[in-house]
Amino acid sequence: MSGGAPAGASEGPGTTAVVGGQSGPAALPVGSAGAPWSSGVRRGDDGAVEVAGVGVADVAADHGTPSYILDEADFRARARAYRTAFEAAFAAVGTGVDVYYAGKALLTVAVARWAREEGLRVDTASGGELAVALRAGVPGEAIGLHGNNKSDAEIVRAFEHGVGRIIVDSLAEIDRVAELAVQHGVVAPVMVRVTTGVHAGGHEYISTAHEDQKFGLSVSPASGASGQASRPSGTGTAASGETAGGAASSAVDSPAMAALLRILERPSLRLLGIHSHIGSQILDPDGFEAAARAVLELRAELAARTGVLVGEVDLGGGYGIAYLPGEVALDPERVAKDVASSVADVAARLDTPLPRFSIEPGRAIVGPAGMTLYTVGTVKPVTVGGGDGEPFTRLYVSVDGGMSDNIRPALYGADYHAEIVGRSSDAEPVLARVVGKHCESGDIVVHRVMLPGDVRAGDLLAVAATGAYGRSMASNYNMLLRPPVVAVRDGASRVLIRRETEDDLLGLDQG
Ligand SMILES: *Cc1c(COP(=O)(O)O)cnc(C)c1O
Repeated sequence: MSGGAPAGASEGPGTTAVVGGQSGPAALPVGSAGAPWSSGVRRGDDGAVEVAGVGVADVAADHGTPSYILDEADFRARARAYRTAFEAAFAAVGTGVDVYYAGKALLTVAVARWAREEGLRVDTASGGELAVALRAGVPGEAIGLHGNNKSDAEIVRAFEHGVGRIIVDSLAEIDRVAELAVQHGVVAPVMVRVTTGVHAGGHEYISTAHEDQKFGLSVSPASGASGQASRPSGTGTAASGETAGGAASSAVDSPAMAALLRILERPSLRLLGIHSHIGSQILDPDGFEAAARAVLELRAELAARTGVLVGEVDLGGGYGIAYLPGEVALDPERVAKDVASSVADVAARLDTPLPRFSIEPGRAIVGPAGMTLYTVGTVKPVTVGGGDGEPFTRLYVSVDGGMSDNIRPALYGADYHAEIVGRSSDAEPVLARVVGKHCESGDIVVHRVMLPGDVRAGDLLAVAATGAYGRSMASNYNMLLRPPVVAVRDGASRVLIRRETEDDLLGLDQG
């Protein structure tokens, strides 16, 4: 795979299909680096779209709308593209890498199996996600457990299933995991989640000295987060400033260093390494390199202080995808090469051998593989402006779902692309806003998109690249029934998660 899109960047010469009924032959070819659809999307001569050989009209007829459609081959291709790109790049600098699929983006039993079959491991962030990964048969050692506020029950469950790594997120949690490990007679494998001051997302990254957010332990000394170092732990053990031994932490240690030192003092914990996750939807690899540098420096400092050179470094997820036509996803080959060569330089400068690395892509694997299929209902032209601006008309196109199946536009102002997918149209494109059916004016699915002017009730409308953080963040607001996840492959569809029913809703209500 090469080019901007990890999968689907290459299409056969016979592909004349164009998604974008409103824009005729000038539209971006399906599967080009500039189209946000999964690689299995085709538009036929009659304008009807199919995914992996399954017509969207058939999905609507068989499974109803709204439905999430997931292109299995596309998911697998992206999983493979990330694994092979990172394996090759890190092998070239003499070390290895494991790829963890970040299950929070979308986790079903089948999806976890696909990830596993493509050679990925699975990251979880709750007991529920852990349960799904285990049900899928993912072996405990191939699972990671995250979370800034894990319950004792979640931690113990991780022990019981031999979870390969627990990523600890605070000094208090280190003590708690250590005590629980003693009680259960295990040695718990842990990584420390650190914050490097590098935050990325969108097109650039920023590096700041201090942290003001809930995740991780700062690598910078005297960070505000160090307040927790002086708080007595919940388990009656010494606070970090009073630890014993030659490498005792001191008041000027960063919270990250204090955490590493504390783990080394605990025989019931095995320190695997250091973890850093800098953000999401990142389109510039520089942030990964900057964070990796800070982590390797911390690792070398720990080695100088204690003689312990930790064996693993995790660089997190956040690899950005294309949501809109013309946007270009982060290329896994490019980011893998850039990060591998950068960590090799840093390790050489620090005179330390490279650790084994891991990464945790979620969105980049499942986001583009998914789309949401809706049926259009009410269509309402609204005249906007006046005042000092020219008035214009925006066509409000209501669909049969909304913020309950995709909260990202309301939560983050996220942009998406939509098209009419059941037919072609020669009508002039008009400025449209796709909205849901919820009692909330912020219930917007697509802020701004050109749709054919004859869009009408009954049309099928698809929103691209909703595979990540769509179903996984879905709610029952207004008592809507959460849509099914329908996998398509080789001309056949299969329900991975069924649609909720009113019985499901009423079954929770105890009267
Ligand atoms: C959310 C998250 C990921 C995945 O992020 P994506 O943007 O979906 O790639 C990976 N690691 C951690 C720790 C996360 O919290």
